[in-house]
Amino acid sequence: MRVKIKSHVIKPLLDKEYPTVSHGRGVYLYDTEGKAYIDGCSGAITANIGHGVQSVIDAMKEQAQKVSFTYRSQFTSDAAEELATKLASWAPGDLDYVFFVNSGSEATETAMKIAIQYWQEQGRTGKNKILSRWMSYHGITLGALSMSGHILRRKRFIPLLEEFPSVEPPYCYRCPFGSTYPSCDLLCANQLEQAIHRIGADNIAAFIAEPIIGASAGAVTPPPYYYQRIKEICERYEILFIADEVMTGNGRTGKPFGIDHWGVVPDLMALGKGMSAGYTPMAATIASKRIIDVIAAGSKSIMSGHTFSANPQSAAVSLAVMKYIEDHRLIGKVEERGQQLIAGLQALMQKYEIIGDVRGKGLLCGMEFVKDRTTKEPFPFHLRVTERLIEKAMNNGLLIYSASGGIDGQAGDAILVAPPFVITEEEINELLFILDRSLGELALELEQ
Ligand code: PLP
Repeated sequence: MRVKIKSHVIKPLLDKEYPTVSHGRGVYLYDTEGKAYIDGCSGAITANIGHGVQSVIDAMKEQAQKVSFTYRSQFTSDAAEELATKLASWAPGDLDYVFFVNSGSEATETAMKIAIQYWQEQGRTGKNKILSRWMSYHGITLGALSMSGHILRRKRFIPLLEEFPSVEPPYCYRCPFGSTYPSCDLLCANQLEQAIHRIGADNIAAFIAEPIIGASAGAVTPPPYYYQRIKEICERYEILFIADEVMTGNGRTGKPFGIDHWGVVPDLMALGKGMSAGYTPMAATIASKRIIDVIAAGSKSIMSGHTFSANPQSAAVSLAVMKYIEDHRLIGKVEERGQQLIAGLQALMQKYEIIGDVRGKGLLCGMEFVKDRTTKEPFPFHLRVTERLIEKAMNNGLLIYSASGGIDGQAGDAILVAPPFVITEEEINELLFILDRSLGELALELEQ
């Protein structure tokens, strides 16, 4: 049957009608019919400080009155300089140098290119593979997708992709090794060493991982010491460690960066999403001094870049977002509100058998759904459990994010609940109330 497409905009689903947004204030979005939605997922885990923040709007206007665009090969700007300095002050260890891009995919791909260049500058030209984990998402462009272990998103483009995903995820709820922490002795991290032996350290530039797995599984949080072990292995075999902080960075998990929960300093970090809190497209790759020193002593230039890289407009906006987070001590609030949210989600788990797991850190929380809680059997994909819950929540005035692997045999059905950092105690109660109601409606339907 032919689908009638009413608009010229290509939307995620061509046969679906989407509401038209009118405006946003704080944690609420309003459509043109006047309906309010509580933004329980900050859009795509992006609108970290909520909507309509006046100091960001002022910074936007002030910069636009000076200059919005300059080309990075011709000028630097106060906004870009100040933003890079601030990012370096938030980042752990010697992660001091910032390469600006426009999306998370560009940020992870730039990290991959910098890692390869770092070894090339030292004559180690064979080191050009990037190892990664299954059940991961690092972006949609072909380099970023090559690093992503998200089967559904890879599927269509397999002939164009590198076979990078090489190790199992630290997925304790369904341990890929059938083991339990801590007696497993971190088999999932140790597997990296086996992959290095198989592929050869001389062929590997870096290992990339999301500190907490986001879009492909719903806030899967590795056990204590996981990243310490990963970093040890990387160092032993001279392999760089890239933390993909696109979703977990800039305060989302209750610390400046997700990896800070493990106290590990990566060699490279990719940022995006919450870096500008959605006020403008902005992303970045942060590199350690050690890496930049090698490139500065060699070819002196990083072989990458985009027209809009480091544009003063987006830099001024991102700087205003970071200042707002500092001025309102929002990272501390993430920790506090995160505890309330996870407790609320756990209470819902007591009520609904279809919730198999609740997990996450700070305001990056996830829920996984199962057909049978005892056996952890997932729902078959054709039942569209995640999508149906999202639809019900949206009808009831709540936005939540799909983190379903989207294919039988993967993580199964999962959502992310990740509201803006400014959410109040009462607003979290409202979010939980609507989620409860939506889960109730879904559970009833699934029983029939
Ligand atoms: N890395 C992670 C961890 C992500 O979650 C995403 C997006 O969801 C990306 C990279 C890609 O970012 P973008 O959609 O801005 O290209």
